[in-house]
This record gives sequence, C-alpha cells and structure tokens, in this order.
Amino acid sequence: MGYPDTRLFINGEWQDAADGRSLPVRNPVNDQEIGRVAHAGLPDLDSALESSQRGFMAWRDFTPAQRSKIMRNAAELIRARADSIAMLLTLEQGKPLGEARGETLAAAEIIEWFAEEGFRVYGRIVPHRSSLSTRQMVIKDPVGPVAAFTPWNFPINQVVRKVSAALTAGCSIIVKAPEETPASPAALVGAFQEAGLPAGVLNLVYGDPAEISSYLIAHPLIRKVTFTGSTAVGKQLAGLAGRHMKRVSMELGGHAPVIVCDDADIGLAVKCMGAAKFRNAGQVCISPTRFLVHESIRQDFAGAIADFARDLKTGDGLAKETQMGPLANSRRLRAMTELQDDAVSKGARVLAGGHRIGDAGNFWAPTVLDDVSLDAKIFNEEPFGPMAAIRGFERLEEAIAEANRLSYGLAGYAFTRSLGKADLLTRRVDVGMLWINMPAMPTAELPFGGVRDSGYGSEGGPEALDSYLTVRTVAISHA
Ligand code: NAD
Repeated sequence: MGYPDTRLFINGEWQDAADGRSLPVRNPVNDQEIGRVAHAGLPDLDSALESSQRGFMAWRDFTPAQRSKIMRNAAELIRARADSIAMLLTLEQGKPLGEARGETLAAAEIIEWFAEEGFRVYGRIVPHRSSLSTRQMVIKDPVGPVAAFTPWNFPINQVVRKVSAALTAGCSIIVKAPEETPASPAALVGAFQEAGLPAGVLNLVYGDPAEISSYLIAHPLIRKVTFTGSTAVGKQLAGLAGRHMKRVSMELGGHAPVIVCDDADIGLAVKCMGAAKFRNAGQVCISPTRFLVHESIRQDFAGAIADFARDLKTGDGLAKETQMGPLANSRRLRAMTELQDDAVSKGARVLAGGHRIGDAGNFWAPTVLDDVSLDAKIFNEEPFGPMAAIRGFERLEEAIAEANRLSYGLAGYAFTRSLGKADLLTRRVDVGMLWINMPAMPTAELPFGGVRDSGYGSEGGPEALDSYLTVRTVAISHA
C-alpha cells in the first residue's frame, strides 16, 4: 500500500491549500520523503472557521442518540480499517505495527465510550425557595466551536480523545493535527465523514503551528481551546487563550517518577516498566522516566531492566520482529545524544544502549543509566525517548520528595507489597495519574490529565465532557 498525500478537510470536503503550499512528510526509518501534506494559509483558516460555525449550528441540535449513532458508525469503520490505518501510522511515525494497530483499535473504543456517555449529560431541577410555580433548571449546552492542537507521538489517539469529547458535547471542532504524521489522523477524520457527520462539524488543517494557533485562538468564533504537547508551548497558548477569555484544556509534558520500594516484586516492576519505558521509543507523555529504587534492591532491578533493554529488537516498525522503532524525528535523536553525554559527564553509568544505531534514520538504542546525578538534565527535563535513568534511595519519604521535586505532575508509578506504603504514596505523590504495581491503563472511562505544569482539564472520563459544556441557569415562573 502506498502512502497518500494529505489534504485539508474543510466544510466536508478534502482540499488543497488555497495557495497550493505543501510540506514534505518523511519516514523516520530512513528520512526519505514519502508524501506531502497541505499547508493551510489564513484564507483556509477563515474557511475552516466559517465551516465550523455552520457545523456547530447544525450539530448542537442533534439529539444524543443521533450523535451516538454517527460516532458508532465511525468507530466501526475505523475498526474495519485498522490494518491499513496502522500501516500509515507506522510509515509516518515509526512505531511498530502492533502498537500502531493497538492505537487505532483503541480509538474505536474511545469513540464508542464517548458515544454512550453523551446520553448521560444531565442538567438538574433545583427547587425554588418559596414558589412552587417556579421551575429552576440547570442546563448544560455545548460551548461552541473548538480549536484543537495535537502532537505527533500518538497521531490518532491525541486527536480522537478531543474529537470524541467535542462531538459528544455537541461542539464542532477544527483540529490542527501534526504535520509530521498527517495521514493517520486524516484517515480517522475520513471515517467520521463516511459515517455521516454533517459538513463543517469536524475540520482538519495542517500548516505552521504557531501561525494557526495564534489565529484560531484569538478568533471570536472559537469558544474553546485544547492542546496536547510540551509545557513551554502549552503555557504560551494558555496565555493567549486567557487574553481572549477562552475555555482551555492543557495536556502537557510529564517526567514520571517510578518508586520501587524494598518490598517490591522486582520481576513485576521490570516487566511493567520495561515495556512502558520503551513503548513508542519512550515518546509518551506518561512514560516512566525517573526510576527511584530502594538501595537494597537497586543492583538487581537495574541489572534486570538493562537485560530487558538489551533484549529488545529495534528496527523498522513494519518488520514483524521489531519491538521498538526509530524516534519520530531527528530532534529527538539530537536530544538523546545531549541527555546521554550530559548524564555520563556527571557520573552516570551506562548499563545498556547509550548510542545511536547506524547512521540512517532516527534509531537510538534502548538505554539504561544508573547512578544518575540529580543535576543531570535527564533528571530534570522531559526526556521523551528510550532512556531510563536510575537513582537509589534509603527512605520512602526521600523518594516521595524527589518524585514531587519537579514542576511536572502527570503520571507516576510505584511498586510495593505494603498496603501502608501504597496508601502513603497515594496521598503524597502529586501527579494526575498514579499506577501502583501495574503499568498505566488509561482507558476512556478514566480521567486523563495532569496537575501543576503538566496542565489542567481531563481527556477521559465524564470530566472530559465538562470543559466542552457550559452550565446555564434558567428559571421559569407561571405564577
Ligand atoms: P515542540 O514543543 O515544538 O512541539 C510539541 C507539539 O506542539 C508539536 O505537535 C508542535 O506541532 C506543537 N506546537 C509547537 N508550537 C506550537 C504553537 N505555537 N502552537 C500550536 N502548536 C504548537 O517540540 P517537539 O520537538 O515537536 O516535541 C518536543 C517536546 O514536546 C517533547 O520533548 C515533549 O516534551 C513534548 N511533547 C509532548 C507530547 C505529549 O503527549 N504531552 C507530545 C509531543 C511532544
């Protein structure tokens, strides 16, 4: 199967940019151009804005059952096309085909969960203080057209969470999807189109991220902004949205601590965290990154996770045996070299990997570093790559303080057989999602999001709908 060029989707039609501009899309396995993506200019954004306003006027009057039916149709189409969509995703992003297929199938589940949840967007009746002939109602309405900005690490998943919540709530949406990985989100959007979504409800654009975000966020037709990406960019966009009084959800960076206690099941911790660390070559916002291991078991844990890393088969995501693909772009490769050199210069020991593989494409060997200094960059900046950094601790309180030291607060992990320690960790580790004795399993029904510099708002659970809804009070008296 070939890799298609990707066009903009505005007002229910696939189209080139008005001025014909496009950008190259490259395969991270060899850096070869595999296709092009249309680059929207301001006239295209104006069309998308008008289209989303028309789409909103129509979609807000659909019943939950009507919305649900179309969303379920889309989920079915995505499920039926999982193999071909996964192929696009692997070609443009690099992750192994199995992971790409999993992401695609998960998208169908997410859509279905939201399609159901739409039936449960309830208001309430509040008794009047003195009059029986006055009805006081609390009503939830869709907030209006949404501008969504999504990154390249999960090109489908990051789009589908936002689109599903928006559509369920009755909003229209303009998605600025990632230019580096455009075809798989376009396939997702195509499924909604074929499922019967009215023109204008869902629009898709690509181009210059800064130009598009500054134009859409400031535009009076846009009522809500949702962004997934780095904390630095998120803060800029939240600031802009604040100046224009727009509703905002921000799913930003993380630097997940993993606390492995002295009483942990080491085998379980290595199995869960090894798989999680190297999934999608570590380019995951909830990837485990700062490993804090009790000194009494540190050597055993570090040796076992280094074995795990060395055993992984790295290669082209399309090859059957591949367990870890390349990094999605050369920026990540440069970042890995920098983090590695910095950590080693500050005393870290390389237990596995620690180098680029070959000189074509963006391959970095699964890496485990031990004895990492607290002031090493990798213990302070989000690594977003296949690198596990380990330090020891003596007292659990020390590990908790270290877990909370950074301004990030997205995911955290811990391994212990003690209920008391699990309880203490639950109360004290300041993250939006904490997984104890297990890998992360962020299904659609669970809130997904961070605290502090990792952002605000949720991308899952009933809470995900709140930020796409306005709450209004209406009182009717017939006295
Ligand atoms: P980046 O910070 O430039 O971009 C991150 C994402 O934000 C990209 O999708 C990009 O298109 C988008 N973006 C950048 N500037 C924007 C703007 N002004 N308006 C709207 N969107 C904008 O860096 P990058 O090299 O693409 O990624 C590097 C870092 O980003 C990673 O180290 C990681 O911290 C973070 N990141 C986080 C996630 C996540 O899931 N939270 C996903 C991808 C990247």
